Amino acid sequence: MNKPARILTFKCKKCSKSVQVFLQKVSACSHIQPYQGLCSCGELHRHATGQASAVQSFLNSTNSDWMHDH
Ligand SMILES: [Zn+2]
Repeated sequence: MNKPARILTFKCKKCSKSVQVFLQKVSACSHIQPYQGLCSCGELHRHATGQASAVQSFLNSTNSDWMHDH
């Protein structure tokens, strides 16, 4: 399995500047690699790769203490 990138770059939906999202440490499991970052305009960006249900759960949550429930 490839190691996930620690930092990814996206375009902000609000201001269209580039935003860096960082691999989150909550991803202790292999099901999901969650990323999160904050744009300079204040817009929070989330991205995740991995198991579809885990990714959806992460993207739907607004809580920074999100944990993958096995
Ligand atoms: Zn922005």
